[in-house]
Amino acid sequence: MRYAHSFEKAVAYAKKAFEQMLARDVPPHPNNFVVWYTYCSGEDQELGKVLDILIDNNQEFSEERNAAVYNKFCSSPYEAVPMHLIAERMEAELTAAVSVLEKTGRDVSTYGDSLQEVRTKVREARCAQDVVQLLTGMLTQTRAMASQSREVEGQLRQSWTEVSRLREELEDARREAMTDALTGLANRKMFDFMLRDTATAAMEAGLPLSLLFLDIDHFKNFNDTYGHTVGDHVLKLLATVLRDTCKGQDTPARYGGEEFAVILPQTTIQQAAALAESIRGRVAAKGIVHRKTGEQLGRVNVSIGVAGLIYGESMRQFVERADHALYMAKRTGRNKVVVQDGKLDKKSIALAP
Ligand code: GH3
Ligand code: MG
Ligand code: MG
Repeated sequence: MRYAHSFEKAVAYAKKAFEQMLARDVPPHPNNFVVWYTYCSGEDQELGKVLDILIDNNQEFSEERNAAVYNKFCSSPYEAVPMHLIAERMEAELTAAVSVLEKTGRDVSTYGDSLQEVRTKVREARCAQDVVQLLTGMLTQTRAMASQSREVEGQLRQSWTEVSRLREELEDARREAMTDALTGLANRKMFDFMLRDTATAAMEAGLPLSLLFLDIDHFKNFNDTYGHTVGDHVLKLLATVLRDTCKGQDTPARYGGEEFAVILPQTTIQQAAALAESIRGRVAAKGIVHRKTGEQLGRVNVSIGVAGLIYGESMRQFVERADHALYMAKRTGRNKVVVQDGKLDKKSIALAP
């Protein structure tokens, strides 16, 4: 996870986090530190709520509890794969392959060495992406080796099949960990991760970054009238519009329920507003047809809030501004795009009904 805090702010949050951890006997190892730093920075409201409840109830911060909070809120989508299981299975396959080679006594030292090297690297791999890379390299080498030597071909082929299967499983697990099951878009965890990552990259490169927040208008009515299944179909339809409209580095995501978000790197707020308008228009133009009965169910509309990253602001502030623009779109009539192009005026939020 990357953070965009200034040096001074980071030091202040780190000090606070350290004090909190010591006061609660939490061992300050890296994952626990991430949890408490995030808490002290106020960056993640959900994490904040969970920790506040635990603190209010005098709950102990055991190793398990800290790990559970870390996994839920702080781990990157790439970490959500049980790495130790993958590494164990891969090690077993590699050990078998190396022993096959030793038995044949052939001059296969380079290949044998590289398998040994992969075995060491698997133990050090920190995420599924690393392992997929290792597996891909290993498969290429194994294929070349098997074709060179008939004797070992059969045995290596077996290893190769198992390693290929492992790689597919790993890819599936990785995809699942970052994807929303209903719409196939990036899930909330992936969104949070990508937002931090793209915001840091934008600030480093001095490039603009924009954010859209979308919410379906009167969706509760729609669900109540036509049922949840038809509602789900509308969510998928909206995901398709987002996928078709957003290209390249853009990340459309399901933020939760019937709310969606789009991260737009290298996009000015004006360009983002134009894209939002195009999404709004496309959704409004789509007629919803009942799949089974063919009945015309009318149309749904979306309201969209747009914000451009202000360098130095926290991700929470950035999200709040996009969300506030969305709120203003709802308040001023729905089926429209509203741009939030400055810092939030707290008073105007407080006065809102
Ligand atoms: P508004 O225009 O103010 O956004 O009104 P709304 O009715 O869309 O807003 P509200 O927040 O009251 O209702 C959101 C509804 O979204 C509630 C629920 O019926 C629906 N919803 C949330 N998640 C899902 C989902 O996964 N599937 C379906 N079918 N409906 C969902
Ligand atoms: Mg909503
Ligand atoms: Mg809604």
